[in-house]
Amino acid sequence: MNNQTLINFIRETYSSDDLIPLHEPTFLGNEKKYVSDTLDSTFVSSIGGYVGDFERAIEDYTQCKKAVAVVNGTTALYTALYCAGITRGDLVITQALTFVATCNAIKQLGAEPVFIDVSSISLGLCPLSTKAWLEDNAFVNEYGECLHKKTNRKIKAILPMHTFGHPVDLNEFVEICENWCLTLIEDAAESLGSLYRGKHTGTFGKFSAISFNGNKIITTGGGGAVLCGELIDAQKTKHITTTARIADGYHFSHDEVGFNYRMPNINAALGCAQFEYLHHFVKQKWRLASRYQAFFEGSIYDFFTEPDYAQSNYWLNTIICPNIVSRDKLLKATNDQKILTRPVWRLMHHLPMFKDSIRGNLSVSEDLEGRLLNLPSTPVKGDSYA
Ligand SMILES: *Cc1c(COP(=O)(O)O)cnc(C)c1O
Repeated sequence: MNNQTLINFIRETYSSDDLIPLHEPTFLGNEKKYVSDTLDSTFVSSIGGYVGDFERAIEDYTQCKKAVAVVNGTTALYTALYCAGITRGDLVITQALTFVATCNAIKQLGAEPVFIDVSSISLGLCPLSTKAWLEDNAFVNEYGECLHKKTNRKIKAILPMHTFGHPVDLNEFVEICENWCLTLIEDAAESLGSLYRGKHTGTFGKFSAISFNGNKIITTGGGGAVLCGELIDAQKTKHITTTARIADGYHFSHDEVGFNYRMPNINAALGCAQFEYLHHFVKQKWRLASRYQAFFEGSIYDFFTEPDYAQSNYWLNTIICPNIVSRDKLLKATNDQKILTRPVWRLMHHLPMFKDSIRGNLSVSEDLEGRLLNLPSTPVKGDSYA
């Protein structure tokens, strides 16, 4: 296989001679109808029925206890961490190979990320490396708090991210969190539609965050959701994301410093229509992934497939190239011909704001940073939904 063969294959797959984006939204159903309904009713903003319907759709689909819709995935993460009690000076374990939003949310709370390596099986946080780092660097004190030996700071949570939709080994993290008195929070921004041992990602953590940004598997324009494992946490999440307003007749009363993070009704309307096609999109994505897999079979490129414990949504299809030279050649060849492939994000500890963060051995992340390439992953129009 040479680079041109891949370019031809992608053009044939999408039946297109134009620019082929990495991932674009697909609107096939009731999007216009529901959005114009919010315009007709004037309920485009903080009042209207679509937000509740959208939250119920998330709950039905993921089987999470409660979902709270918010303005984007980053605020979903911020809110999840806030409601989990993460505060100034705390440490949160996460991966260096992630989108910057994961770590921005930690930093915005005044907390600090601790970077642990990813697993080559999932591309997400590695449970073995996490355990090893904790054993070397942490202890649980007599109050049941997990402390960092060197700095005596509290380690409060583990925040794994399901990279490109591939689930991390969640049972392992549930156990690590139990053993080390930590809270599990999932960054499931990319993994709506992905299952871990038959159960939806985002339902293992005390809180999880989903994103409905325009590049995700379904979109609300901008949007996100916090998935909550317990009703009491969901009440707190709803309250804090809606300015902490309390019932007081006609008066505006609030009982704590709240956020205005509520998803507007017009965005939720779009989301309700998108949800009606999510099952189809997931199937189309499997179909596309298996085409890529067949194409790369026997080549020097390693098409990344889901871990055997998981059923992934294949949000972004991924290959691992033999080395950085071949990766960069392929990156250039495809983009020169308007096929938008992308390298993985720069590792977090290579960014100026996280360069001094505490970290473990990151050799798998470092290796992947130079060799990984994402391929166009929009569901192919006309691919059967069956
Ligand atoms: C998209 C994404 C987010 C943030 O979502 P926004 O809706 O864009 O704020 C967070 N984490 C990861 C891993 C993402 O891919």
